Amino acid sequence: MPVDRLLPSQEADDLIALTRDIADKVLDPIVDAHEKAETYPEGVFAQLGAAGLLSLPQPEEWGGGGQPYEVYLQVLEEIAARWAAVAVAVSVHSLSSHPLLAFGTDEQKRRWLPGMLSGDQIGAYSLSEPQAGSDAAALRCAAKADGNGGYVISGSKSWITHGGRADFYTLFARTGEGSRGISCFLIPGDLTGLSFGKPEEKMGLHAIPTTSAFYDNAHVDADRLIGAQGQGLQIAFSALDSGRLGIAAVAVGLAQAALDAATAYANERTTFGRKIIDHQGLGFVLADMAAAVASARATYLDAARRRDLGRPYSTQASVAKLIATDAAMKVTTDAVQVFGGAGYTRDYRVERYMREAKITQIFEGTNQIQRLVIARGLTS
Ligand SMILES: Cc1cc2nc3c(=O)[nH]c(=O)nc-3n(C[C@H](O)[C@H](O)[C@H](O)COP(=O)(O)OP(=O)(O)OC[C@H]3O[C@@H](n4cnc5c(N)ncnc54)[C@H](O)[C@@H]3O)c2cc1C
Repeated sequence: MPVDRLLPSQEADDLIALTRDIADKVLDPIVDAHEKAETYPEGVFAQLGAAGLLSLPQPEEWGGGGQPYEVYLQVLEEIAARWAAVAVAVSVHSLSSHPLLAFGTDEQKRRWLPGMLSGDQIGAYSLSEPQAGSDAAALRCAAKADGNGGYVISGSKSWITHGGRADFYTLFARTGEGSRGISCFLIPGDLTGLSFGKPEEKMGLHAIPTTSAFYDNAHVDADRLIGAQGQGLQIAFSALDSGRLGIAAVAVGLAQAALDAATAYANERTTFGRKIIDHQGLGFVLADMAAAVASARATYLDAARRRDLGRPYSTQASVAKLIATDAAMKVTTDAVQVFGGAGYTRDYRVERYMREAKITQIFEGTNQIQRLVIARGLTS
């Protein structure tokens, strides 16, 4: 049954209906085949972009949808319920356009934002390196001044969602010493000197590649620097506050899909002469799953509404990411249990949901790092 959402406008209701229609007609028929064969869904992002779903929260003046974050996240949740890998890529696209939108000059925005927000171009976010994941300030990829205002970039980055496929990369590279020696650059995907590794062999999210990137004396002009030199880490963390809400919404979508599948199965399967949902021991498992999904959704909506009101929401974003992704892991694992032996096969989607839920606890700040952020907010 579709989620009964409390949305702020008729336009938002229409957007959810549009998303469900696209999920039914475009995503659902092909998701299983792509996830099994680990093949890229050509054309899917162009269709999402044409429907306006790649830039919902960005301002209309730059070609975005001008929607509140609470609406965008619920759209993302609906996409994730059908295809988590696509929803993650949509969320990362939004994450990668945030630095230009929030820190770029008007001239930079005029030049690059329309392409990004129209859905013609898909973006990726490149902060992590082999030795710098949680400890982002340990990154080494270097951008050295070329003497003419531009930069020469050398080094490697890792774990890039949509690596090798994206049209632009929001890159964080070292321009000096320490945490204030990191800068943000907007890199075109076809930059000379930029190459990509082969896709990682992941537990889930098979349809979207995750790769390393290698910069070999790659030259960019001065206008590719976003924000001030040395402001990169501040920009990266500001983008991640929003991105974490996207991951929370993806996690809730996955959990909702698992709950729906488990509920349908429990209403059909019989043992000992009755539907398994009528065994209280199993009915209570489903009740706990439903409660976990509802409370996880409430935490991300609370953070999103604060963001929409222009109030601080960084701690709430970490709370939402922690609660929603832990809930997704628990709910998807319980969904496999509800299916019994069948849940452990690839005949049903619940095993995929469980594999996909795991990554939501790891990327865009592991849940240990979310606890660090929350604890920092509690420290007087
Ligand atoms: C599928 C996938 C997609 C990704 N996409 C992107 C992307 O698009 N862009 C990007 O930049 N990165 C991306 N990442 C990278 C991801 O954000 C990092 O993997 C993550 O931040 C963890 O970093 P790490 O793997 O280096 O683990 P580490 O930082 O080495 O952590 C290892 C363990 O130690 C724990 N730990 C570390 N420090 C502390 C501490 N201070 N206190 C308590 N525990 C701690 C961690 O929680 C973790 O459990 C992706 C990763 C994956 C797997």
